[in-house]
Amino acid sequence: MSELKLCQGSRCHTYKTKDRLKGQKDNKTFQTRRRSSMYYGDNFCSMNCYNDWANEFIDRAIDHFGRLTEPKHLTEQNAWQKTYDWRASADDSHRYYFINGITKEQRPLTEDQYNDTNYTLNERG
Ligand SMILES: [Zn+2]
Repeated sequence: MSELKLCQGSRCHTYKTKDRLKGQKDNKTFQTRRRSSMYYGDNFCSMNCYNDWANEFIDRAIDHFGRLTEPKHLTEQNAWQKTYDWRASADDSHRYYFINGITKEQRPLTEDQYNDTNYTLNERG
């Protein structure tokens, strides 16, 4: 059995649903949900819990990881996106390629390059 994760919503236990009511007969309390997987941001049991966390902590999280202070610009140099045509090849495999969102130029990709999240044609920074 996989390990259960606790919902990280700071108010999860305050939503009084039947499934949150746990404990012995005379000692039941509403508790934070536990799940084997969380579908909202991988850490929250519901959109409500996700929003509760975001409302409380999002500014601190953005400040911690770096707040944008200037708009970013999409240019030819950073507009490459990976994509594929579903089962476009003669052997029924997908055809993988880069497409530039500005110039519409296409460049071929192997499946390994497609799956490698570090592989890009975009300039960093
Ligand atoms: Zn929750």
